[in-house]
Amino acid sequence: MTEPSIFSRILAGDIPGEILFETDRVFVIRDIAPQAPVHLLVIPKTEQYRNVTELAASDPSLLAEMVAAAQQLADNHADGEFRLVFNTGAGAGQTVFHVHAHVLAGQLTEQSVGA
Ligand code: AMP
Repeated sequence: MTEPSIFSRILAGDIPGEILFETDRVFVIRDIAPQAPVHLLVIPKTEQYRNVTELAASDPSLLAEMVAAAQQLADNHADGEFRLVFNTGAGAGQTVFHVHAHVLAGQLTEQSVGA
């Protein structure tokens, strides 16, 4: 058995974290180290997909649900426009291998890459 990811531990209530929004299949938390005025993470409840490539190949409807959640968050927390970032691979800045989308919104700069 591998250890649950940090996101699964937040979902389970084992470590602190405010869940802003959830559906049957996804949940949303604030990034602990925000890179933009609005920096939220949309996370599938399952941790079976390590990155967006695996997710897209196996469950495109779940990926579509993540994108729809991102739009809803940008509508509710900013002006409806947003940057969606999936770091894929350690060399690209991925540190948690439980697929998640960074939703960046508000006054974005070129530095707001969500890494
Ligand atoms: P990535 O580097 O793309 O794998 O993204 C992982 C993100 O998770 C980083 O932006 C971290 O700041 C964020 N993160 C790590 N631990 C926590 C936590 N306990 N609560 C909220 N966000 C976290």
